[in-house]
Amino acid sequence: MKIKSGSNLSKVRKNNYASILGTIYQQGPIMRNEIANQLGITLPTVTTTIKQLLEDGILQEEPLRENFPSLGRKASLVDFAEDSGYAVGIEWSPVGIICCITNLRGKIAGKKKIAFDIKNISYREMLLRTKHCVDELIKETGVDHEKIIGAGWATPGMVESENGILVCSSVNYVSWHDEPIQKNLSSLLEMPVCIENHVRARAIGQDMFERKERPDVYLYYFAQMGISCCVMADGEPFGKGRFGTGDIGHTIMEWDGPVCDCGKKGCLQAFVGEDPLLRQIRNLLEMGKAETLHKLCEDPKKPKIVEVAMAIDCGDEELKDIVFPAVRYMGISIANIVNLLNSELVVVDCALMNSQVLRKYLSEIVLENNLFQEELDLKIEFIQANRYTGARGACAMAIEKFVIKNISRE
Ligand SMILES: [Zn+2]
Repeated sequence: MKIKSGSNLSKVRKNNYASILGTIYQQGPIMRNEIANQLGITLPTVTTTIKQLLEDGILQEEPLRENFPSLGRKASLVDFAEDSGYAVGIEWSPVGIICCITNLRGKIAGKKKIAFDIKNISYREMLLRTKHCVDELIKETGVDHEKIIGAGWATPGMVESENGILVCSSVNYVSWHDEPIQKNLSSLLEMPVCIENHVRARAIGQDMFERKERPDVYLYYFAQMGISCCVMADGEPFGKGRFGTGDIGHTIMEWDGPVCDCGKKGCLQAFVGEDPLLRQIRNLLEMGKAETLHKLCEDPKKPKIVEVAMAIDCGDEELKDIVFPAVRYMGISIANIVNLLNSELVVVDCALMNSQVLRKYLSEIVLENNLFQEELDLKIEFIQANRYTGARGACAMAIEKFVIKNISRE
């Protein structure tokens, strides 16, 4: 009995700790009594819980801008000291290894990308390259080792985050299976490591670092090489255990459509994925068409999606003939998920959508195909896509786990 009550008490303390820190993270700067009111706990509990963190400099106090005599002389706001800690974020992406270091509020202190074809690279070799990349990045950034709170790691595929296992990669040609990545990386980098699927990591990063008011349930739709949709529910990605992300890229849009990387025909990815799209665009450029894009490209033999987005906004008509149908498929796939879940918000993370013209077109298609046009106040939010959203999201995971939930010190 004693053991049980003791364990319950420690559980309550742990939950209080995570709730208090989570509230400060989301709403800081905030007053102690405001935290107590919101969480339904006593003011002394709040004060005692954060005392050590204030002494350690993880949290800091800020004076109230206005004077409220009724709150007493000591009333002040509490917030995270954003440069008191740094997190390392790592993504194993189809284009190589992408790393960054952020402070506790997601501000990037340094970033590094080692580009290579991950096809035929062994798991062991990936680990060694990651170690090299992270070591170099820490050196270049000049961040104090003592201040690094841990690392987050993410990749496309199925990841068992609770047990630290990479179940399988969803990148074509890659054959890593059931690898204890969390244990391996943690001993190699000599720091605590947490792991996730790359789109779930991105969604967590957006949620934590941007601190926007969003509905309880919303969709994070990511399109790059592959297309995935993460359902965010109460600030967390939906689904636990052996889980990828809603791999919407391999849902079939046309039963007799073009062949996809996965071997099936007519997958969404075969229309919208960066590889098939860029293949068509390269053909267009080789035929001497899409002049605007040609002028904008750093290397017209290797057009980039961000350049395509720019050329669309500059009115490249020939390019539109290829890109608009792809965006139409993307819009239909988003509307399909909205119709399934009745979510009121879709956050879109896609480099093609750096184009204002395409944002407008995609929004029209989604709204047009939304079954409850009148009833559902559907909003589409576009984020400025870049190659580091995955690694930055992995930093957010590490901050959540090792600072807010304090899991490494359990
Ligand atoms: Zn497919």
